[in-house]
Amino acid sequence: MSRKVRADVDLNAIRHNYRLACAQAPRARAAAIVKANAYGHGAIAVARALEPEVPAFGVACIEEALELRAAGIRKPIMLLEGCFDEAELPLVDSQDFWPAVHSEHQLCALEQAQMKSRFPVFLKVDTGMHRLGFAPDQVPSMVERLQALSCVSEVILMTHFARSDEPDQPATAQQIECFEALAGSSGLAASLSNSAAVMAWPTAHRNWLRPGMMLYGATPFMAPQPVADQLQPAMTLSTEIIAIREVAVGERVGYGGTFVCERPTRIGTIAMGYGDGYPRHARNGTPVVVRGQRVPVAGRVSMDMMTIDLTDLPEARIGDRVELFGKQLPASEVAPWCDTIPYTLVTCLTPRVPRYYH
Ligand code: PLP
Repeated sequence: MSRKVRADVDLNAIRHNYRLACAQAPRARAAAIVKANAYGHGAIAVARALEPEVPAFGVACIEEALELRAAGIRKPIMLLEGCFDEAELPLVDSQDFWPAVHSEHQLCALEQAQMKSRFPVFLKVDTGMHRLGFAPDQVPSMVERLQALSCVSEVILMTHFARSDEPDQPATAQQIECFEALAGSSGLAASLSNSAAVMAWPTAHRNWLRPGMMLYGATPFMAPQPVADQLQPAMTLSTEIIAIREVAVGERVGYGGTFVCERPTRIGTIAMGYGDGYPRHARNGTPVVVRGQRVPVAGRVSMDMMTIDLTDLPEARIGDRVELFGKQLPASEVAPWCDTIPYTLVTCLTPRVPRYYH
């Protein structure tokens, strides 16, 4: 019998979420972020679904961009994380990849390269996240050097937020202020907004949005948020119950015996584990959905299986489908039980989970 693990991906939900992002900033353009295999949803399928309506895609590195080109995707592709070096510049030149430049080394490589095409370059500015980018006082001279290059059609100032998912935190307003002090009078186009900023920080919308997680229908916020509440989950991860047993009071379930039966307990075993990318550290009590009802994980997640408490669902049977997250159970509700964020739940699914597109 084959394992019944599957991830169903609703491409219409992704289109809906992309349009929701665009609707927040009608004058901006939104690059669809499809890095990390479109956050686990399948970069090629997602890019094909969105290509007719997006001006550009964003990925983390050349390999991801080449995968899209090999699949026939023709729209420009931003190399978001600035992961390129001189050896890769011929690909930037020939493939309509738009690089983000964050280091002196990359700028020198561009200055020395013999490029034939012209393309926009995103100049990464470190406004407070302190991960990548030039310090604000270095930016004017970097802009000048880029503008002197015949291959650079446009310099777009870009920054990334560290805490835009925390609407009450002053950090994002401070980053925007720092960015505007540079960009405001420069006449250059600008790109600041990840999903949280698309939804909650309109002063950061400017010219190019870079929504990622929201395209896939999960909220980056911990609390309800008016735009995030309209997102549609794109991925539903599910499997089947493969065994059911009655376990006596006082018995322990699973590796390490972390779940102790405090009543006669009906334990269901389901075909899903950390070998599929489901987090091993999901705690006892993490919800899953069977027959439309939430039931708790009971016992440690193992590589290929997990156990759930079906005592309060006596009608559950072997072969019933079990939703781990998706249409009935938002990933954002599951994530805190696993000490993580919805981003990792979808992104970390392994190739063992077949994706089905609708
Ligand atoms: N822009 C950059 C530079 C990023 O690194 C990311 C993701 O980490 C995004 C945009 C998209 O962020 P989100 O998925 O929160 O929308």
